[in-house]
Amino acid sequence: MLQVVNLTKVYKSKHGADTRALDGVTLQFPEKGMVFLLGKSGSGKSTLLNVCGGLDNPTSGEIIVKGRSSKNFSQSDFDSYRNTFIGFIFQEYNILNEFSVEDNIALALELQGKSKDKKAIAKLLEDVDLGGFAKRKPNTLSGGQKQRIAIARALVKNPEIIMADEPTGALDSNTGRQVFDTLKKLSQDKLVLVVSHDREFAEQYGDRIIELKDGKILSDVSKTQQQQQALTQNVSTLGNVLSLKKGSELTSEDFEQIKTFLKNAPADVVIASGEKEVKNFKKASRINDAGEQEVFADTDESTLGTKAYTKEDSKFIRSKLPGRHAAKIGLSGMKNKPFRLFFTVLLCTVAFVMFGLLSTLNFYNSERTFRETLTLAAPEYLRADKQYQATVTWYSYGEEGNSYVNFFPAKFSPEDINQLKELTGDRLFGTVDVYLSLSTRNTSQYWAPQIGMVGHLPEGHVLRDRITGEYPDQANEIVLSSYFADLTVACQIYDAEGRTIEITNPQELIGQKIALDGTTYTVTGLFDCGPVDGKFDSLKDSSNRNESLQMELTQYLANGLFQFAFVEESQLQTLSGRFENYWKNEPYSYHALTCDAVLPGEAADFPQWSNAHYLKQSDAKSTWIYHSVSGKTAPSEGEAIVTAPTYYNALQTLIYQKINLVQEGKEEWTQESEDEVQSLYTLVEACNVLAYGRRWEETEDGKGEEILLTEAEKEVYRQKLAVFEAENAANLSIAFQLFNNSNQSSFGEEYRCSIIGFYDVGDEYQEYLILSDSQADALWNEQKTQIESYEEWSSDYVEPADAIYEYLYLPYDQTEAQKDLYWEMYNAEDFEENGTRISLVGSFVEDLRRADSIIKTLATVFLYVGLVLLAFAVLLFSNFIATSISQKKREIGILRAVGARSFDVFKIFFSESFFIAALCSVLALVGCFVICHFINLRLTESIGASLVVFGIPSVAVLLGVALLTAVISTFLPVYKAAKKKPVDSIRAI
Ligand code: ADP
Ligand code: MG
Repeated sequence: MLQVVNLTKVYKSKHGADTRALDGVTLQFPEKGMVFLLGKSGSGKSTLLNVCGGLDNPTSGEIIVKGRSSKNFSQSDFDSYRNTFIGFIFQEYNILNEFSVEDNIALALELQGKSKDKKAIAKLLEDVDLGGFAKRKPNTLSGGQKQRIAIARALVKNPEIIMADEPTGALDSNTGRQVFDTLKKLSQDKLVLVVSHDREFAEQYGDRIIELKDGKILSDVSKTQQQQQALTQNVSTLGNVLSLKKGSELTSEDFEQIKTFLKNAPADVVIASGEKEVKNFKKASRINDAGEQEVFADTDESTLGTKAYTKEDSKFIRSKLPGRHAAKIGLSGMKNKPFRLFFTVLLCTVAFVMFGLLSTLNFYNSERTFRETLTLAAPEYLRADKQYQATVTWYSYGEEGNSYVNFFPAKFSPEDINQLKELTGDRLFGTVDVYLSLSTRNTSQYWAPQIGMVGHLPEGHVLRDRITGEYPDQANEIVLSSYFADLTVACQIYDAEGRTIEITNPQELIGQKIALDGTTYTVTGLFDCGPVDGKFDSLKDSSNRNESLQMELTQYLANGLFQFAFVEESQLQTLSGRFENYWKNEPYSYHALTCDAVLPGEAADFPQWSNAHYLKQSDAKSTWIYHSVSGKTAPSEGEAIVTAPTYYNALQTLIYQKINLVQEGKEEWTQESEDEVQSLYTLVEACNVLAYGRRWEETEDGKGEEILLTEAEKEVYRQKLAVFEAENAANLSIAFQLFNNSNQSSFGEEYRCSIIGFYDVGDEYQEYLILSDSQADALWNEQKTQIESYEEWSSDYVEPADAIYEYLYLPYDQTEAQKDLYWEMYNAEDFEENGTRISLVGSFVEDLRRADSIIKTLATVFLYVGLVLLAFAVLLFSNFIATSISQKKREIGILRAVGARSFDVFKIFFSESFFIAALCSVLALVGCFVICHFINLRLTESIGASLVVFGIPSVAVLLGVALLTAVISTFLPVYKAAKKKPVDSIRAI
């Protein structure tokens, strides 16, 4: 059955000589019987046993199993061979503590692919005298009991060979004897190969004793029976033992035989009698009752004969560790390292969440979201603006530096509108952004007294149907929204004369004159903008201070048609471009401004210093409302237009000079001169009030308060000044010098310009000096050489003269064609050939764009953070598995000894890592759902559609990443452990 031929095993050592643990061992083992491998420690017994059992591979030579040579065996074949034919018993019992006695035994069966046979196991336990121990756990058993469990496990698969390496080494001699008795019993129909260094046991139990020394066979003897030789009827011999029959009467012939025996005796002779003495002697000399003695003689292997085996006989059974056992072993140690487990799970979960979200964000489709949102919001109109591209160049002290491309607002021309109408339908109309304030007496958060947009509706436009009254047909006529009419009723707005309009019916607003930033308009009609959403009603209460609701209302109003007014087209022309200077970077830097007024021949008494900008006349066109002093509206060289405060300060200076003249010039102080000075002081007050746009009024408590001037009031003060102004305006001038911002000092010559008019900037107090283009350019050329850094921009885009519309209102009738067009406008990134582009603004569009960019940023962040975390997760994970492996060395060793293959070892650890990966995946899935929900909530308040959908593809990505992580983290550490030779695994126990 089992043969070894010329076995050699050399252990290579890094330092020192190699060890020849086996050195040309050739043996043939019998089919059954008990064979002892005897020898001193280190003689090679275990090595021989391990090689015979397929736990270790020989360096050279072969083992022949039922006629099959090991020459071509793979490791897996060795495992299968062991699994099929061999039951191993070790000194250290090696049974699995987490399995019950029954399961330990069943495992050997199950590795062979057979099912657990409870009856057979119970029978086996009886055989090893452990009946009823089936359900016990190994840690409740004694060493001898454990060893007998190990024997039962070795037996359960009914192996043909049992191999035992010092099976009694850890047991006391009595228990050891029991074990040997059991093994002896088994050797009646199996080959039992026992390693031992105890000669006494070997001789007592062994049928054959092979003694090893230095890896070579020192002796090989087999037990034979020596028969008694009867010399006479009463006397017989057995080697050196002479025995007499009990109660025999000796004859002389008997005595002769005894004498001869004594004479030939090589040493002293003892004659003993007594039942006990003789029994003991016989036992010690292994003489049985029939008088036969067991003796060892050289083994004659030729008597073993060679048996012929069929292929079927030598067929191996490949081991197959059942999944639930793999899982049980795999998961058993997990609770021993809770912290490691916790952190591994935590990190993996976070990494998986990152990838789940990342994929969700990558699956995010802005077009789908845009279309969905458009469908959901179904706005009446969408808003679009136009931009042009310009190259901005940085300069330093007049030297050109870097340049970059930026974009700036452009206006729509009637041609643009006509072209677009073809695509969007007739309802399209253009507006300008105005921010005209209505002055009101009362107010609350609900009412916003600002006109945001002013538009022109062409004749026949559907929105005209919503107008009660008339559409304006000349300048300074206006149609206001019904929201403003309601506002007038609620808040009492001031009319052009500064009186409050007190009406109870909104319709009564028609026909009233109102002042909007210095211009008087007649309300010719009201435009129905629809009701404001009822959820804002609480803001009507002026004591209500709900900031977030107020902000929502501001958005809401701006997105609807509530803050709209409509005018005749030419009126729109004057309103267009009001805010141009708010966005344009001011090209002309600060300079010091000396503002004074000079009467002929007199020096200025009240110079005033101020910081201001100068502006080209052409850049300032139609930006502000001029008040012309001289009838001119555009300055030529040496002339300037200033702000109202500057103008009135200068005028005031002039009046003070007059007062001085009067006071000094009068020799005689009369009532007349008193009146003259007094009236001049009235003018000083008028200047003051007009300069600051405020009037001081006594209150009942005597404290007084500042009242903002209405247009009508301003007019009253201007009237007072009109005559003086007309006579003396020619004497008003302004002196200024250029200013270097870097060193905060003025430089160059002092310039002087006469003041030809002023403009009103309302509350937005900022000084501009409007000069002729040529003078401004000359100043700039002088100034820029002194400036450390400034920018200039240039563009090929020339705005058509009739381009006045800042925004277009695009109709939305929920048609697919419109959706396609608006998606294109929403997405417009590139500029067209003419350097302009049209894109959607306002309403949900901005929120959607912001969400888009947040999602793109998040996707990038998640990708990098995810990759880093994943790397850490894999490290931690594989470290966890590596720890697990070192903790399960014992289990691996035992399983390998019993017959498990590398693959079974893989199964154990993969079941562990898949469990962890599954746990992390479940947590990560929950996490992703929650986070996506949160992202949707935060980003879509105003959008409505779900932005990020954690769908099947994302789940698949997450699970894929989890699976990959588990496989990568597990494969490397397990590969090393699984590829170990079984003997190394066992030795590691
Ligand atoms: P025994 O079982 O008879 O005590 P072994 O078969 O275990 O002896 O060992 C035989 C020889 O081989 C000894 O000298 C031992 O030191 C050496 N040996 C055994 N295993 C290894 C090993 N894994 N590496 C190196 N030397 C080994
Ligand atoms: Mg040994």
